[in-house]
Amino acid sequence: MVGSGVIGLTCAVRLAEAGHRVEVVSDLAPGDTVSAVAGGLWFPYLAAPADAVLRWAEVSLRRFRELAADPASGVWWREGVVLHRAADPDLSWTAAVPAHRAARRAELPPGAVSGVVCSLPVVDTAAYLGRLVERCARLGVAFRRAVVADPADLPQRVVVVAAGLRSGALVGDPALTPVRGQVVRLANPGLTRWLVDDDNPAGMAYVIPRGHDVVCGGTAEAGETGTTHDSAVERAILDRVTELEPRLRDAPVVSRAVGLRPARPAVRVDRVERAGQVVVSCYGHGGAGVTLSWGCAADVVDLLDG
Ligand SMILES: Cc1cc2nc3c(=O)[nH]c(=O)nc-3n(C[C@H](O)[C@H](O)[C@H](O)COP(=O)(O)OP(=O)(O)OC[C@H]3O[C@@H](n4cnc5c(N)ncnc54)[C@H](O)[C@@H]3O)c2cc1C
Repeated sequence: MVGSGVIGLTCAVRLAEAGHRVEVVSDLAPGDTVSAVAGGLWFPYLAAPADAVLRWAEVSLRRFRELAADPASGVWWREGVVLHRAADPDLSWTAAVPAHRAARRAELPPGAVSGVVCSLPVVDTAAYLGRLVERCARLGVAFRRAVVADPADLPQRVVVVAAGLRSGALVGDPALTPVRGQVVRLANPGLTRWLVDDDNPAGMAYVIPRGHDVVCGGTAEAGETGTTHDSAVERAILDRVTELEPRLRDAPVVSRAVGLRPARPAVRVDRVERAGQVVVSCYGHGGAGVTLSWGCAADVVDLLDG
């Protein structure tokens, strides 16, 4: 397995549960991956194709719902609202959500014309990646810190490439592109309800309360590769989110992060054989790696076990 982000670790868990001997090779610690930057809301954002995404997201939703029963999992099952500012929003994602309703007028901020209220998984990604590592360790998964230049350099007969944005370099795929995202995490003043406002005319906005902090975002800059925090961008994010949730106005900044989403016209989950080695690809999850993780990992197991 190349990669210890949410995709690599989830695949490692599922493969080890299925009886495979797994070694995870990665050059970054899980806490330093893009996965640790993710806001952690289950939501199929910036990922295609729609039918497979819905199927993967549905599998993950069920798994996260089970995990949320354990307070130590880093996963919560929380109610919130997806806002819409235009008529005819894309509601295809609601097909994967067991219960949802139209937002009442009092639940809509000025400018929003409708909304969907539902309960979804919220994942404290840094803590959750730690739980996945622990689960891997209990299942006997080995970990090695190294840069992989080519899957053929690895001694294993089967290699799963779950290397996020850098997967392209490993399998010769030019279709991956970065979509930069910046977040700021504020001390949680007691919020539990999340909020997504992607069509905000001032820029996308979301508020995702986890335990002690609230992830506030965001940005989605296609093709941008800079990972340095930008304070002007942060000020604009804070303006948008405090307009939507005034209780965040005096909340101190706990931490900040920037990550590059691994975007691809379609998420790649497939298997090829090269010179006696089986290479399974699992990457290109865009803005939905957490959301799709358990569904894609199930497909990876199927590709190997049939
Ligand atoms: C601001 C922001 C907010 C987001 N919010 C959400 C959200 O709310 N919900 C959601 O579902 N998704 C969200 N995402 C998207 C999500 O973070 C990604 O889809 C996901 O992290 C991709 O996971 P990954 O495991 O494929 O890649 P990564 O997390 O990038 O992990 C890649 C791994 O591969 C390893 N690697 C790469 N190349 C090599 C190599 N050559 N040799 C060795 N190791 C290598 C790295 O060390 C790392 O371990 C968000 C992203 C951003 C940036």
